[in-house]
Amino acid sequence: MATNSQVAADARVRSRFPVLAEAIVAGGSPQLRNKASVGGNLLQRTRCAYFYDPSKPCNKREPGSGCGALEGLNRNSAILGASHACIATHVSDMAVALVALDADVEVLSPTGAERRFPLMELHRLPGETPHLETHLAPGELITGVIVPKAAEGGQVYRKARDRASFAAGLASVAVAGGRIALGMVAHKPWRAADAEAALAGGATAEEAIAAELAAASDNGRNGFKITLTARLGAAAIDQARGRAR
Ligand SMILES: Cc1cc2nc3c(=O)[nH]c(=O)nc-3n(C[C@H](O)[C@H](O)[C@H](O)COP(=O)(O)OP(=O)(O)OC[C@H]3O[C@@H](n4cnc5c(N)ncnc54)[C@H](O)[C@@H]3O)c2cc1C
Ligand code: SF4
Repeated sequence: MATNSQVAADARVRSRFPVLAEAIVAGGSPQLRNKASVGGNLLQRTRCAYFYDPSKPCNKREPGSGCGALEGLNRNSAILGASHACIATHVSDMAVALVALDADVEVLSPTGAERRFPLMELHRLPGETPHLETHLAPGELITGVIVPKAAEGGQVYRKARDRASFAAGLASVAVAGGRIALGMVAHKPWRAADAEAALAGGATAEEAIAAELAAASDNGRNGFKITLTARLGAAAIDQARGRAR
């Protein structure tokens, strides 16, 4: 129930998890962050315009109806992990930082049962069932987010968007030590495991992000996001290394 503003302003978050504070303040506007909650921000829905337009087909809104974005206005759509059924993105900034920080979520079911699992596994890829967005069971509430002690190394959050405030991102990158997550490029916050492995193997920042984006796809209008993410990712990795010194 903590608001995004409360989390971003918390002294422990600012000192131990600066990537989280930076990600939160990169989202929305001060007014939005004063109202947005942790659970609500994680579970916000896609910004795909077709999802909100009942005159257009959308497999997420109406399973089996088709996907208006596939051959339509897909400038903001996914470049990783998409399916022929849905190319929407998840746009939470906070979630990207939490994946880079290896956070867990705690949930409570209506029966009183509690469970805890990696936040990285909270959201789903679209596959054939884009209307199913998370691995929460019906009625389950998110009651907590647990962030472990951060790994050694610099932390940074970088986001590219069309205007400086009040805008969802086109792409974002969170770096926390050796862990990297990408935002707004997939149906879920994207753990960049291939980039992490490449970096651990001695690759440059550019080579590491290129390894992650090797499977990226272009649906016609969103191809620029591949180049944008490559540049943003390399810059974020270098900036995080600079902060670690
Ligand atoms: C104009 C605009 C711009 C925005 N820009 C950004 C941005 O750049 N970056 C960004 O990250 N976000 C952005 N947001 C999202 C914003 O920060 C909010 O998080 C989002 O609008 C959801 O609102 P809320 O947090 O009040 O959640 P709610 O609207 O209260 O909840 C959203 C959903 O989650 C469910 N829910 C809420 N809490 C829980 C819980 N604990 N357990 C289970 N289910 C729960 C609710 O039932 C509901 O279905 C933007 C929003 C707007 C309107
Ligand atoms: S990308 Fe997903 S949300 Fe957008 S129209 Fe296609 S099915 Fe609907």
